[in-house]
Amino acid sequence: MASRNRVKGGRAWIDEHVNDPYVQRARSEGYRSRAAFKLQELDRRDRIFRPGQRVVDLGAAPGSWSQVAVERIGERGRVIAVDLLEFGTLAGVDQVIGDFTTDETLARIHALLDGTPVDVVLSDMAPNLSGIASVDQARATLLAELAFEFAREQLKPSGMFVVKVFQGAGFPELLVAMRRHFATVASRKPDASRDRSAEMYLVATGRRT
Ligand code: SAM
Repeated sequence: MASRNRVKGGRAWIDEHVNDPYVQRARSEGYRSRAAFKLQELDRRDRIFRPGQRVVDLGAAPGSWSQVAVERIGERGRVIAVDLLEFGTLAGVDQVIGDFTTDETLARIHALLDGTPVDVVLSDMAPNLSGIASVDQARATLLAELAFEFAREQLKPSGMFVVKVFQGAGFPELLVAMRRHFATVASRKPDASRDRSAEMYLVATGRRT
């Protein structure tokens, strides 16, 4: 999570953002945020995507992970992108704007899935920071746990689950639970993920049925 003197929109954050090579690359390559390069790196290493897949992208705004997913899965694939915030539409992406922690949003996702299992569940969800570390950690862990529950229910056994996590309270328990339900769970810290951020990604495959 961002350190408190680098709160998004603060002076230090703006200076860092303007000089960040990934921000400049995102602009020149047409991605909506530097986060695109994290997913590209994860995909290069773990071969997440194949043409024609169905993907659910949780915490999708402003949409750079969905952009990368669409590039990889092609025209026959489909992305369902979920976020609290509205963001610009993308070809090949169905948007669900709503709070993923609510039954109402979940019902809208299920209606789009129509009972068909998915190939990939991505979660880059992160809570708005309150500045109180224990509260922010608890909120982040809850989002990762709910994404995990969704992946367990909706993924094909051959599917992949990629989730952003923050090391801290609740993380070891989540890792143990994921290892129980997936044959392989790898920890990844892409180069595009800032060193000072406690964020990392778990990439899980081989859902146990
Ligand atoms: N992967 C995105 C991209 O590449 O553009 C960036 C995601 S950003 C780091 C985290 C997102 O999680 C924010 O857009 C935020 O609104 C979303 N989020 C946080 N809590 C959420 C919730 N309860 N339901 C849906 N989205 C949520």
